[in-house]
Amino acid sequence: MNTVTLVEEPDLRTDLLAENERLLQLDQLKDELIATVSHELRTPLTSIVGYLELLHAPDAGPLTDQQAQFLGVIRRSAERLLSLISDLLLMAQVESDGMRLERENVDVAAIARECITAARPSAASRSIAMELAAEPASVFGDRRLLGEVVENLLSNAVKFTPAGGSIVVRVACLNDRVLLSVRDSGIGIPAIEQKELFARFYRTRDAARRAVPGSGLGLSIVKAIVDAHGGEVMVESAVSEGSTFRVLLPANQSLPAEERST
Ligand code: ADP
Repeated sequence: MNTVTLVEEPDLRTDLLAENERLLQLDQLKDELIATVSHELRTPLTSIVGYLELLHAPDAGPLTDQQAQFLGVIRRSAERLLSLISDLLLMAQVESDGMRLERENVDVAAIARECITAARPSAASRSIAMELAAEPASVFGDRRLLGEVVENLLSNAVKFTPAGGSIVVRVACLNDRVLLSVRDSGIGIPAIEQKELFARFYRTRDAARRAVPGSGLGLSIVKAIVDAHGGEVMVESAVSEGSTFRVLLPANQSLPAEERST
């Protein structure tokens, strides 16, 4: 019996290592495939969204009300597709080569202001009030990716807040950290589901039941970006009362001198 075990064990280990290697390669292939497909889909879709916008411009000629309505539906669908593809692309990039940050000195309050301006039309269309309470808050980080964080949190707040609700975005300096919070008066998240939120493709039962559009990728991307900046993200929520997502990032001045931007 013992002899058999001694002979078999190294073989088993080799098999397991080979299988592990094969799975790693497959995983890498999957990430590359997602990245390539997303990239190839994004270029024509960006152009579709751009030309749809041009059709609404006055010099493109008059549109009947019905044509304008149809174009609006096409545009919203194309934008949804574009946002899903961008999320998939970003996720695949993170999986394959980790998160590469292009760091510079960024003011989180300025990013929040820009994102609120971009989100205002969709909030206004559902009579959701948006408020910003921000002080200048400097972080040595990736401007585009931090914008992605605020945009994701804000678009969730808008999506999951019923008409007539409110959203408050806050940016504040807390000693050596910068706080960004997005509070909404929306549908809230049951305590039991809160710890799952940051997993890839996770959507709460309520979101699925209400058929709120989404992929379940946004918060996992938020977490990956915040982690790469050495920060943390937390959620506090009560069903039917609303949710608050808080992001804490190291303030620029708290970094070691050699890592700090001036
Ligand atoms: P998506 O919004 O595309 O579904 P996310 O990863 O951004 O994906 O969010 C995951 C899930 O977390 C959502 O489907 C929803 O169930 C829940 N969620 C996120 N933000 C909120 C919010 N502000 N209020 C209520 N539920 C939320």
